[in-house]
Amino acid sequence: MKLLLGSIKRLSSSSKTTLPQPSAGKSSSLLKTVLLLSGSVAIGALSWNYYKESLYQRELSRDYFSKYKISKKYSIDQDHYLIELTPLKAQKVNLWKEMNSSKLWSVEVKQPEIMVVRSYTPLPLTIEENGAVEVLRDEENASGALTFYIKQYKQGEVARWINHLPLGHVLELRGPFVEYEFPDTADEITRDRSFLWGNEDCVKDNYKYQPFDILFFTGGTGIVPLLQMTLTESPFRGKIGAYHSCKSLTELGPLNSILTKLQDNDRIELHTHESNRISIPLQSDPAMEGIPSPYPYGGNEPFTSLDSKVRPVLSLVCGPGGFISTVSGPKYDLVQGPIKGILAARGWDNSNVYKLS
Ligand SMILES: Cc1cc2nc3c(=O)[nH]c(=O)nc-3n(C[C@H](O)[C@H](O)[C@H](O)COP(=O)(O)OP(=O)(O)OC[C@H]3O[C@@H](n4cnc5c(N)ncnc54)[C@H](O)[C@@H]3O)c2cc1C
Repeated sequence: MKLLLGSIKRLSSSSKTTLPQPSAGKSSSLLKTVLLLSGSVAIGALSWNYYKESLYQRELSRDYFSKYKISKKYSIDQDHYLIELTPLKAQKVNLWKEMNSSKLWSVEVKQPEIMVVRSYTPLPLTIEENGAVEVLRDEENASGALTFYIKQYKQGEVARWINHLPLGHVLELRGPFVEYEFPDTADEITRDRSFLWGNEDCVKDNYKYQPFDILFFTGGTGIVPLLQMTLTESPFRGKIGAYHSCKSLTELGPLNSILTKLQDNDRIELHTHESNRISIPLQSDPAMEGIPSPYPYGGNEPFTSLDSKVRPVLSLVCGPGGFISTVSGPKYDLVQGPIKGILAARGWDNSNVYKLS
């Protein structure tokens, strides 16, 4: 016990007098460790920020806005223009390949002064210096640049505002937002579209499954989703009966010749109603008389042959409210509303008609 107490005393006395003091060498290594640790924490934080800013936020997303600059603009007439927006950070994801023709998609453009967004439908095109357009080829995404065909309205806010912005101005975009999705068959062949670059010997389609046909009724800029699904990578495989209404086809600018190419290569069967050429209303236009009635959708049936006749299983309608009403009955915001108008008279109903926004 004595011994024990003595040792305690010794220990305590020694701890009082000889408390180990950090030597000069030890002090610098502790400092180094602290510096190293805080350095690693700082680098970690910076890397995370870099990852978030540069990589994670590099790709266009629905969750945040990405910056795009106005890289090209081409004015078609006083109401219509083409505009190319190039992301400040080059995009790795090829949305044309990812979405192909099975999804109709758009992006939202922010108007920061009045804090609103408007949707616009991109096209897989680049704008040349002379205003001509070139379709992006397979695997090309122009580093994420997106081209839009836009109509500005005299009383409208955003389309007019965008048109007045100078080249180089930075806009904020988010997306993609899918508005309509077709049934897709992943193991199906990709349809040749080399006619878009002048090839006259397009590969004859020899599908695995029988493609289905559709009707597409478009008014004004409502034609953009139709162009998107016929021009994109792996374009729509069936036939499209396209019924386009507008004031004049000249308002399409360079898109008009693309429409002709699609028609000449049996991608669309085009019927047009130009209000500056024909004074009768759309529903009385003889061009509307041949609208086929719906055919049943058979799912993925084995491929037999391609018919020259359009056998539509679905009708899509896209355009201003009045146009949608005339063709298929009114649409109430997000509610489709009953099918009326031209399509109802041909036996179409809510099971086979979809009114796009
Ligand atoms: C999914 C989706 C994709 C779209 N893609 C495109 C596209 O590729 N190109 C394009 O130009 N637009 C497209 N739009 C329409 C676009 O989002 C805007 O609604 C349009 O640009 C008008 O917006 P604004 O702010 O200029 O006019 P607003 O301030 O919204 O409108 C003001 C006034 O302009 C007139 N107006 C607006 N829109 C129309 C119309 N469609 N028809 C007739 N009068 C109208 C009306 O008088 C309206 O009261 C798309 C819309 C959706 C939902």
